[in-house]
Amino acid sequence: MQEAIPLNWRKYPERYRLEGTHCEECGQDFYPKKNICPNCRRKGKLEDKQMPREGKIISYSKVKASHKDFKDETPYYVALIELKNGVTIFSQVVDSLDNEVEIGAEVEKVFRKLNDKKYGVIAYSHKFRVKK
Ligand SMILES: [Zn+2]
Repeated sequence: MQEAIPLNWRKYPERYRLEGTHCEECGQDFYPKKNICPNCRRKGKLEDKQMPREGKIISYSKVKASHKDFKDETPYYVALIELKNGVTIFSQVVDSLDNEVEIGAEVEKVFRKLNDKKYGVIAYSHKFRVKK
């Protein structure tokens, strides 16, 4: 039964491969996935598309106090990232030094474990790191 599959697994392609949608009608990409193109409405022709693996930081924040589940990881960076196709996503920035995380810094996607303590399953998600 479809409903029995945990959300983590149903969201797998979207999270793991950074899969969004592309509208053939207007040429715009979207992430997260859309069911209807916001530009073209019912005239839009949507198809699955993998988002670019690279982008740049347009805004960021250093998190020093977080939810208890992420206490081991603090402090850490979160950033608004503009991908090469213009789509913006919110993501954690890992493996990067304080002086590397800045507005305009080029970043690339990496895979990281999300949180395996609470749910007993290992969930992976996209994260980004500053390109060396
Ligand atoms: Zn469209």
